[in-house]
Amino acid sequence: MVLLPDSAYGRDVASRLSARHNVGLATACVGLSETPKGQPLAERSVFGGRFIERVTWSAAPRLATLKAGVFAVPPAGPVRRPTLLRRDVAREARVCVVSVEPSKTSGRMRPDIEEARVVVAAGRGLGTAERMRLVDELADALGAALGASRAVVDLGWLDHQHQVGQTGRSVAPELYFACGISGAIQHLAGIGSARIIVAINHDPEAPIFGAANYGIVGEVEVILPRLSAALRAMSAEAAGAGE
Ligand SMILES: Cc1cc2nc3c(=O)[nH]c(=O)nc-3n(C[C@H](O)[C@H](O)[C@H](O)COP(=O)(O)OP(=O)(O)OC[C@H]3O[C@@H](n4cnc5c(N)ncnc54)[C@H](O)[C@@H]3O)c2cc1C
Repeated sequence: MVLLPDSAYGRDVASRLSARHNVGLATACVGLSETPKGQPLAERSVFGGRFIERVTWSAAPRLATLKAGVFAVPPAGPVRRPTLLRRDVAREARVCVVSVEPSKTSGRMRPDIEEARVVVAAGRGLGTAERMRLVDELADALGAALGASRAVVDLGWLDHQHQVGQTGRSVAPELYFACGISGAIQHLAGIGSARIIVAINHDPEAPIFGAANYGIVGEVEVILPRLSAALRAMSAEAAGAGE
């Protein structure tokens, strides 16, 4: 069985391998287990996260791409020493990374939303592009990645690579802040694997509160600066205590 990360690169390599060698491929797996007969079984999240599909392979070898962050880290077992096969692939590569630059809308280098431990996501409730500064500040205070609802991407406040949800990307952070996001089913489809969800919304009936572990009912323009200031004060205090 060949396992690859479900990243843009992993999906690219996996689909090429599958096509060239006529090997069965299960993409975006959120679980791996065995059938009662001991055959590998993969789980995939489908229909916007409403169903889990279980698939098997008719023959070996088997190919799968695994979603980042959805597999619990198992306790350390006995140290295994796999055989490492080293190949110089650089000469064969037809594509190479020329440079890595911050996206135009997020303005600086931040973790990628699919790999980040903390994601601060902006919704239409921020009201204006100017207020994106408030989510920026919270993301800075937490070292977080920036996420967005589709409404925010459609408004041009952030690039599509930041969009979380059914037609965006799926995230699995330890902590997800939904700021001024209503919690449409298409958005929730992308945050099913987030461990803790904190929602800030001025409407106590907003559906996002149904998915959140913690909810703050209030205006984002009031809550966000307070949260960022409190976090900055905590880091300053921790840095002072460490001196
Ligand atoms: C086929 C399809 C695919 C889609 N894919 C996606 C997807 O991948 N991702 C996605 O996100 N959406 C997707 N959508 C769109 C989705 O249905 C919603 O329209 C979108 O998620 C709404 O974005 P929002 O929550 O930012 O905006 P809104 O729904 O407008 O919600 C804004 C929220 O902000 C709150 N608010 C307003 N002002 C304030 C304030 N001052 N302080 C605090 N709260 C405030 C409001 O109470 C409201 O709950 C898709 C839709 C379709 C049909």
